[in-house]
Amino acid sequence: MDLQLSAEKSIKAAAAVYLDYNATTPLDPEVYRLMEPYFKEYFGNPSSASHQWGWNAENAVQKARMQVAGFIGSKASEITFTSGATEANNWAIFGLITKLRETNPQEPLHFITSNVEHSSIMKAMMAAQKMGVEVDFLPVNSLGQIEVEHVARAIKPHTRLMSFIWVNNEIGSINPIPELAKLAKEKNIYFHTDATQAVGKIPVHATNMGIDLMSFSGHKIYGPKGVGALYIRSANPKVEINPLIYGGGQEKGLRSGTLNVPAIVGLGACCEYGVKHLETENARLTEMREAFWNRLQFTFSDIRLNGHPSERSPINLNVTLPGCRSEELIPRLKKVGISTGSACSSGSMSMSHVLKGIGLTPEQAACTLRISIGRWTTEEELHQALEALKTAVAGLNT
Ligand code: PMP
Repeated sequence: MDLQLSAEKSIKAAAAVYLDYNATTPLDPEVYRLMEPYFKEYFGNPSSASHQWGWNAENAVQKARMQVAGFIGSKASEITFTSGATEANNWAIFGLITKLRETNPQEPLHFITSNVEHSSIMKAMMAAQKMGVEVDFLPVNSLGQIEVEHVARAIKPHTRLMSFIWVNNEIGSINPIPELAKLAKEKNIYFHTDATQAVGKIPVHATNMGIDLMSFSGHKIYGPKGVGALYIRSANPKVEINPLIYGGGQEKGLRSGTLNVPAIVGLGACCEYGVKHLETENARLTEMREAFWNRLQFTFSDIRLNGHPSERSPINLNVTLPGCRSEELIPRLKKVGISTGSACSSGSMSMSHVLKGIGLTPEQAACTLRISIGRWTTEEELHQALEALKTAVAGLNT
């Protein structure tokens, strides 16, 4: 059987309404159209400097680098393409550790992060601890935000890095990144942010906001999977981290390996779209999210919103429905693609560290859903999803 057809069929059957844009976004058909020639006639290797196939590919990569830089407020030379945000996050941490150790092997290192980071920061920081780095995982407040004064109190003479998630991928809370970056700068500490859920959703300006290192990903902004970038500040201060991968010297020797040209072209196109539409899209989705939250409250009187009520991602609602365990509810929502609030790894449910971090009990966390909307979500779809949710909840209680 045609694999693609069967996959398309099962997607349509299983999830008529897709409400999991925090997990990933559909590829914009226009972005796909722009990527396509780079799988076909423009197949060249951007490192081939001796012929037109190579030049075409190299030009496309440079254009994409400028598009990305234009969107996140940096210079093109400060963008290094990666396979996504997981890679960029890991690289920022380990690239800095090895660089600092190379420069001053005796210097003790202290890093500060929060206890509600994405697993690619949490686990990388735990690995850093095993390498002898002292790491503080600071608690957030009950709205899921890190407090600047709290961070200020945690700074030690040997603190060298702060890393905070910009927009939380589970609960949508927005951290005060410019204020945190300012504090880091005053204290001469490198500042990294995981901006995967911020880029394309809220205004981001790496240079003006004082960010030193910033990770983000293509597949959260209607681009392809397997591509992302790390922004590395080039001045005031010039940030130096060690290469991620050694080899042919691509990406200024920082990340060797032949570039994924079609995906990079796609990431660039998404960023160009973002420059033009971020503001209107943000306003439209915020309004849609609020209207849906009001309807949810009207329908389920005991529903609770997790995360900050207003300083939150325009696309995210994270809600607890007391008494409705999501592992029982979600199988009843066959036509709606939403996510549980808990991290589900290899089929086993464990309490989400983010929900724990904002003080939910295990029972509350088990009754939590993440609903996330996006570019193609319609009022009609939200109406359908609400009806499906009502039926599923009623089914649980009978
Ligand atoms: N950080 C955050 C906040 C995310 O939401 C994600 C994706 N779930 C990642 C990092 C990892 O991104 P990628 O899938 O590109 O590795």
